[in-house]
Amino acid sequence: MTWFLRISIALILLAVAAFGIFLGPAHLQIRGIEPTLPSEAELRALATTGRGPVSIRVAQSSSQTGPDRNLSHAVVIIEWPDGRRFMIDAAMDREASEEFGALIGKLSPGMGPVVFKGSAADLLGDEIATVDGVGFTHLHVDHVQGVTAFCAARGTGARSYQTFAQATEHNLHTEDSARQLEDSCLEPVVLPGEGLLTHSDFPGLGIVPLGGHTPGSTLFAVSIDGTLWLMSGDIANVKSKLLHNSGKGWVYSTLFVPENTARTESLRLWLSALDEKPDIEVIVAHDFDAALDSGLRPL
Ligand SMILES: [Zn+2]
Repeated sequence: MTWFLRISIALILLAVAAFGIFLGPAHLQIRGIEPTLPSEAELRALATTGRGPVSIRVAQSSSQTGPDRNLSHAVVIIEWPDGRRFMIDAAMDREASEEFGALIGKLSPGMGPVVFKGSAADLLGDEIATVDGVGFTHLHVDHVQGVTAFCAARGTGARSYQTFAQATEHNLHTEDSARQLEDSCLEPVVLPGEGLLTHSDFPGLGIVPLGGHTPGSTLFAVSIDGTLWLMSGDIANVKSKLLHNSGKGWVYSTLFVPENTARTESLRLWLSALDEKPDIEVIVAHDFDAALDSGLRPL
């Protein structure tokens, strides 16, 4: 055997071992998370809840333009008749946005510089005092890191609402954010079960465990003025790809982010069938342009 062949075999064995040690458990874990989804009728019934939400808006925290997409980080703000608000995702502060953007630039060449608009706290301004609830579509850094700036501005008094899987099932990419949440100002509320979950604190807010992208990936649903809004997180990164049932590619879903690709495909099909209805809009967390096209008002 030549030295070249020996080194090649050693490198392949090393790569397989590294995959097994770091990514294998995460792949096994996410394959086991496939909670039952609610029916369309169950989601639509959110509209009949008394004292349900009255407005929904979206704010862009940062963006980064690439050859075939505009990667945005956004927060969604929902308001109830008594003025209380619920925030979905917390984006990142300036430093974390730039760090994350540099990583994205390395992984996908051609991405431009990060344009930072403001942390969730900056974007909310005085409204932050009324944000009593926070939810996360999943616990990746680009959706959670902004909690530190949020807490610095808000102080105590807000609660986080998580599915059981999001609160308890973590992997190599969600552990840090889970710890950040534990140490944050948010008082945790954990919702057991699957299907459409609700909590009396925010009537008309539906919380649905999804899995697929991360163990704790969660959909948030609200019905406002005849439109059912479904915040789908990162099940797809681009709305058009969700509608055309196009996955994120083997390298992304196997090596970068251990996904249950059978599950993300069934979720894409479920969500795109719902989005076809004239009064249902699926919001893709990183696709701000598509969110505005859907009619979501900017903050
Ligand atoms: Zn993300």
